[in-house]
Amino acid sequence: MSDIPTFITLEEAIRISTQIKIKQSYEEITLDKAYGRILGKDLTSKVNDPPFDNSAMDGFAMKYYDTTSPPSTLKIIGTIQATGQEDNITVKSGQAVRIMTGAPIPKGADSILQVELTTTKKNLVTLSQEGMKHFIRRKGENLKKGDVALKLGTYLTPSKISLCATMGYSTIPVIRKLNIAIISTGNELKSPGEKLKRGEIYESNSFGLAGLVKWLGHNPVRMNIVGDTIEDLRKILNKASTECDLILTSGGVSMGEWDLVRKIMEEEGNLSFWRIKLRPGSPPLFGTWEKTPIFGLPGNPVSSHIVFRMLVAPWIRNTTSSTEPTEFRTVAKLATNVKNSKDCLTLRRVSLIIEEGELFAHQKIHQGSGNITSMSFSEGLVVLKPNKKYNIGEIVEVIIL
Ligand code: AMP
Ligand code: MG
Repeated sequence: MSDIPTFITLEEAIRISTQIKIKQSYEEITLDKAYGRILGKDLTSKVNDPPFDNSAMDGFAMKYYDTTSPPSTLKIIGTIQATGQEDNITVKSGQAVRIMTGAPIPKGADSILQVELTTTKKNLVTLSQEGMKHFIRRKGENLKKGDVALKLGTYLTPSKISLCATMGYSTIPVIRKLNIAIISTGNELKSPGEKLKRGEIYESNSFGLAGLVKWLGHNPVRMNIVGDTIEDLRKILNKASTECDLILTSGGVSMGEWDLVRKIMEEEGNLSFWRIKLRPGSPPLFGTWEKTPIFGLPGNPVSSHIVFRMLVAPWIRNTTSSTEPTEFRTVAKLATNVKNSKDCLTLRRVSLIIEEGELFAHQKIHQGSGNITSMSFSEGLVVLKPNKKYNIGEIVEVIIL
């Protein structure tokens, strides 16, 4: 074990692990493939949004000063649709133009009234109220040509993909997805669907971890379950390090005699640290195997999930210069007692319930780190600082799941 750092704070673990980075490469993709990807470059808008002054309402466009003593009756001189065609109508005093949402504002007009507040008779329109200047959407009011609207590292959500299109991009540069190997270790593990013998359980971590990898916009490579032998571990780690950018293992990193991931990393790998002050999830290790970064996650399903969120996700975001999806945090009032620990940052699974306008955190489910049901049915993780007593009614920080 020699002198590698052990039982360090989460911040220290993030600081040490993020010193190792993966060199990024980029690819150009169409917007159809952009969902969940990470932008590879700052994007500047090619156009103004909107590109021209236009109407926010179906209604009439006219001169405001013709509308100041409602009801006012004006002569309808034409119709403008949102067709993108050139219009050559000029509105003069006493006149109005029928206009559709998104259509360019005709020359001479400076206000709009929505159709619901008007009545028409032949070629006359009667406005029941004053025209509204704020129903004109001004050229460039949302975005100016040349503005950087999306930055390198942005996680592309549906609305951000729409924004790429609005800015005039049909293709965009994105960070190539990392291929992330997921290896489950343990003699007792069987794939779901197989028949279980006494002492065996279904392997579940790799599926949860694969979902978390996809959540960050990358490509999970679920590998075979490996038994607890040094030979099998060596073989699969060699394979993973040649085929993938990052290796995640689960199981085999704590104090047990069969915790061979820790053993092989100590003896044959390059270990940067082992064990962190996080509960659940204190046993993880980090290092490199044949130059490929590796996180050894705990076997307990809740622990592996939490360690991914708290330690692996910051590392992946860092190496891809990605800012999102960030861990969304808020505060809530404790509605039940929560057990804290002396020296670890402790995360408890809670239900979040709004009562009379306040957000309450209830710890309802038993908190065993082997109980993945508790993770599945919780909306948040309350963040408890070490060595502090938390009382019912206290305001605590919560990570939204
Ligand atoms: P370990 O860290 O290998 O001692 O495993 C701790 C606990 O997690 C044991 O009860 C294992 O059976 C369980 N476990 C380990 N790996 C997995 C896995 N991939 N899926 C579900 N449970 C696991
Ligand atoms: Mg094990």
